[in-house]
Amino acid sequence: MRARFFRTIGEIRVPKFVYEPGALRESLEAGKMSMTVAVIERNDGAIVLVDSGYSEAVCANPIGALGWFRSLSALGMDSTADDAIVRQLEELGYDPRKVTHVIATHMHLDHIGGVCDFPNAELIASRDEFSAFLSIPRSPGYRQEDLVASGRIRIVDLKEEGRYGFPASLDLFGDGEVVLLDARGHTQGSVAVAIDDGKRPYIHIGDAAYQSWEYGLAPSGPSRLASLTVWDKAKLYDTYRVLREAENHERRPVLVPSHDVGVYETLPKSAEG
Ligand SMILES: [Zn+2]
Repeated sequence: MRARFFRTIGEIRVPKFVYEPGALRESLEAGKMSMTVAVIERNDGAIVLVDSGYSEAVCANPIGALGWFRSLSALGMDSTADDAIVRQLEELGYDPRKVTHVIATHMHLDHIGGVCDFPNAELIASRDEFSAFLSIPRSPGYRQEDLVASGRIRIVDLKEEGRYGFPASLDLFGDGEVVLLDARGHTQGSVAVAIDDGKRPYIHIGDAAYQSWEYGLAPSGPSRLASLTVWDKAKLYDTYRVLREAENHERRPVLVPSHDVGVYETLPKSAEG
């Protein structure tokens, strides 16, 4: 692995009560969430993304591009076209044609919409997630146009081989650098992705928890937002327990929830760190 770093696709402004413990509904205090994408540059120059955020077209005009029904997911989105991951990579000197894989932590539109901006990218999704995507076409979270626009998808099966305490995994390239982990609960086929350059690993957990406090022991989650959007609460709690175990794993991985801006601020933002 040549490099691994993280970027946020714009900022999401939301009242704090939706994601903070104990924040009162009456409180109109504004907070911020990130939309964190992991960028992995492999030794052969290929680039792998974990999630993509919204596409360039959606970043430029969230409400107009998504339509009224799905624009709810973009409420509070503060972005311009320059926030799209394709533009950010270009700005850093990377060729978008080098992006070969976009791994979907899950297939909600704010996580995979940007795959259409990469002509050579294949979307990687777990089998359970893909079947959820197909079976809920009118869900505000899933948007089938995103896949029609990109056109290439690979469905993968995780094996019952535990890693970092997660019950199943898939070593995508067979070299241990990028490993999908079973983190269902938020959706039917949510995965986390371990990124290992041989030093300290990162685990992008998608929306398995929105904020790192949610899976902690006190105060325990889920937040109001996580309760509203959950697929299976029992599975979500199982995954919270796994996340706590993973954090205590001997290699001390850094867990990265997509929308936790506090965690995002601590992460490397470019190959130079
Ligand atoms: Zn999300």
